Amino acid sequence: MQAHIEKSFPAFHAAAKREIVADYSLLYTWEGADPKAQPIALLAHQDVVPVAPGTEKDWQQPPYDGVIADGFIWGRGSWDDKGNLYSMLEAAEAMAREGFRPKRTIYFAFGHDEETAGTAGAKNIAALLASRGVKLDFVVDEGLLITEGIMKGLEKPAALIGVAEKGYATLVLTAHATPGHSSMPPRQTAIGMMSAALARLEDHRLPMQIRGTVAEMFDTLAPEMSGFNRVVLSNLWLFKPLLLREFEKSGPTEAMVRTTTALTIFNAGDKDNVLPGNAAASVNFRLIPGDTQASVIDHVRDTIDNDRISITPFAGNTDPPPVTATANPSYQMLTKTIREIYPDVIVAPGLMIAATDSRHYAGITDSIFRFSPVRANSDDLKRFHGTNERLSIEGYADMIRFYRRLIENSAG
Ligand SMILES: [Zn+2]
Repeated sequence: MQAHIEKSFPAFHAAAKREIVADYSLLYTWEGADPKAQPIALLAHQDVVPVAPGTEKDWQQPPYDGVIADGFIWGRGSWDDKGNLYSMLEAAEAMAREGFRPKRTIYFAFGHDEETAGTAGAKNIAALLASRGVKLDFVVDEGLLITEGIMKGLEKPAALIGVAEKGYATLVLTAHATPGHSSMPPRQTAIGMMSAALARLEDHRLPMQIRGTVAEMFDTLAPEMSGFNRVVLSNLWLFKPLLLREFEKSGPTEAMVRTTTALTIFNAGDKDNVLPGNAAASVNFRLIPGDTQASVIDHVRDTIDNDRISITPFAGNTDPPPVTATANPSYQMLTKTIREIYPDVIVAPGLMIAATDSRHYAGITDSIFRFSPVRANSDDLKRFHGTNERLSIEGYADMIRFYRRLIENSAG
């Protein structure tokens, strides 16, 4: 793939410096004419998720052949995230060929392990830039899309810019008990204690809240809405409980307003007539901005209320990264760029539910924007990490135009 990139974009490769980081990640530096201007970075990742075993036959085109047919580019990664990676390079290639030189330095940073946390690629690229004293004006990475029908009563498509991202915390709970023979069981067993603790955690989830970015998103979208939903969103002081009850009914909307609790692993016992000495379970929390790993651990300790259960956090846990301010010239520039290329859409700030590579850049920039310039309907969304992933040729052309305009507006 890297050979293909090099061969496909010769003018860009002549204009920019290419470095390999952590064996597989790519860092391009397109040096700006003004050394004093603050640099920016465009991010994408090279890796993809696998095709779920057994679903290969459901693909209309082979997942790894890059078939172009029926107006679409088919294959795993066409959306996530090679569409962004290649359209950035297409834009830069065309501009380099025309002799364009950015006013400020633009980094193109392409990690290779985003789907497994980015701890080799993105983290090391960000560390390398930090070691060189680089401070970025802003970072644009994959993220929220241009979607229709995301909210009842909103007819126009909405382009949501992810200015906030949820945090990630897995806690391993271990119940300690005395192992023994099952013929004389004590009142409390490891499995019984752990089951009770987990049931309590599911019953006492963290509270739903409308604050920060999500509140700002509603404020921006409400005036564009019609009917009852406009009334609801414009009068949250009155309708908040009603809205939250509605949000709680579906996973994606609930995830926007609460730190979620997901029981993911349970291990205990290995013989039917032996009481195990311990029982262990993993609980994965996705934190809304404002919550921290420490506050979640407090919540878990208070909720399970059992000092025979220990709580151990995973090493890879991350608090939500700082929220990017929308009262910020870069946000305005990005909004303007989106409106220029997609004149029919409403632009609003949003909360990114999943984690992206960009969080590793929090130390070298105050402004992270998670946005993929792709139109998607609810049918398309199933193709993400799913079967028949594809990107329309028309959509790809729009992405190229978007990145070109973004470079012009920010570094022209
Ligand atoms: Zn991705």
